[in-house]
Amino acid sequence: MSQHIIVWFRQDLRLNDNPALQSALNGKNAVIPVFIDDNDCGRQPGIMGRWWRDKSLAQLNDALKSCGSRLIFRKGRAQDVLPTLAKQVGATAVYWNRQYEADIVARDTAIKSKLKDSGIEAESFNGSLLFEPWEVTSKSTGGPFKVFTPFWRACCALGLKRGLWNVPDKITAPAQWPQSDALPATAPLDHMDSLNIWQPGEDGARDALALFLSENISGYAERRNLPAEPATSRLSPHLRWGEISPARIVAETEAANIKTDDGTKFLSELGWREFSYQLLYHNPELAETCLQNKFEAFPWRNDADAFEAWKRGETGYPIVDAGMRELRRTGYMHNRVRMIAASFLIKHLLIDWREGEKWFWECLVDADPANNSASWQWVAGCGADAAPYFRIFNPMLQGPKFDADGIYTKTYVPELNALSGKTLYAPWTAKSDMLDSVAISLGDTYPNPIVNHEAARARALESFKSL
Ligand SMILES: Cc1cc2nc3c(=O)[nH]c(=O)nc-3n(C[C@H](O)[C@H](O)[C@H](O)COP(=O)(O)OP(=O)(O)OC[C@H]3O[C@@H](n4cnc5c(N)ncnc54)[C@H](O)[C@@H]3O)c2cc1C
Repeated sequence: MSQHIIVWFRQDLRLNDNPALQSALNGKNAVIPVFIDDNDCGRQPGIMGRWWRDKSLAQLNDALKSCGSRLIFRKGRAQDVLPTLAKQVGATAVYWNRQYEADIVARDTAIKSKLKDSGIEAESFNGSLLFEPWEVTSKSTGGPFKVFTPFWRACCALGLKRGLWNVPDKITAPAQWPQSDALPATAPLDHMDSLNIWQPGEDGARDALALFLSENISGYAERRNLPAEPATSRLSPHLRWGEISPARIVAETEAANIKTDDGTKFLSELGWREFSYQLLYHNPELAETCLQNKFEAFPWRNDADAFEAWKRGETGYPIVDAGMRELRRTGYMHNRVRMIAASFLIKHLLIDWREGEKWFWECLVDADPANNSASWQWVAGCGADAAPYFRIFNPMLQGPKFDADGIYTKTYVPELNALSGKTLYAPWTAKSDMLDSVAISLGDTYPNPIVNHEAARARALESFKSL
């Protein structure tokens, strides 16, 4: 018998390899794809995350149209919208792919029982992870892993590969479509030319993976640390909004016949994403609470001026400033520079990692509820598997080490174009007549350093020791 099935899209804005959609497809079933903008539950995307999401929704709608379907967009509380819509269209089932934030899990569980009470089938699937966060457990404790390496080893032993579904040719439409609100407009940010580097949506995700595997993955194990090179996949915002499944990335990477070191390293980065989701699932307060409790007593400084200088990319440390300006201009920051900039905020300025996490959440196109918080806790040294607190990145050494020619730094800090080598990363060490000759005036054309590195380092070590 023909049925009406609602597929509730959430963070899985794709048609390919989408288990909830796939389960609804069966020639006779009419499928009603819906997205609900629910401001009431879960952490709301920041400005850049929302920009990406809204672009992606438009792409999803187009992709659905080319299969004979369309996206129904509604605003409101999902627990109100979904049962009402189900009743309205006479749905016999509602399918969706799972999310792992505690308040979303609680809401979804309540929706499931509400639907079931009304005689409507409700089922959720794993559409965004290689493994469910409860699936990979430590043999010794029986609980979740606290350290990445054994976690990932256990994942690999279970096998990363699974079957994939392609984009369906056709999605049967209902005889009558329910009403839809207009899809959200993205105009407020569309004037930013620097966002043209991105292609939100499923096609963009597929193209980014193809480009990476055919041209850029060679040497990934080493080159991934060089911010001037196109050496990483740039898949993070696509993964964040589920425009591609990690299973597809695994399958295509394995099929691409890549040098073992590079392929293994790349897949292990997806492993960090899995690990972060496992941490979030088992520690719902990941964005607010240090996983190592003793860090709650840390004497953070309240320094609004320094925080503003960091956000604007005006700390006087060129590699930090380049990263913070890349973030503002493009909604992205290279991973190596994220570590340097985050370390600078936490250790040089002693500003609470949660402040930095919130700023990244606002500004990153890939701002992710698991990856962002877990990474900030890692840099702060308060996470489960954290960098030791005494690892304090020296921005004057990290610059020349990872951006030796200064190409990345000068892209975002062009006022220092005339400098090179170590001086580029510590302009205050240059002779004043040399700076004069290239029209650089510290404190005027480029800021003086807002803290002295050695003093800040000693202060950080002292503060961390106090724990
Ligand atoms: C302070 C800080 C904040 C971060 N915030 C985020 C965030 O909000 N969202 C986010 O996706 N990543 C975050 N990262 C991790 C990492 O910087 C980005 O995933 C990476 O830079 C994305 O670029 P890429 O897709 O080219 O990465 P690639 O090197 O091509 O990696 C492939 C994929 O693996 C995953 N990945 C890579 N590194 C990590 C990592 N350290 N932790 C978890 N997953 C990882 C991402 O999904 C990425 O797309 C953060 C890192 C730091 C240090």
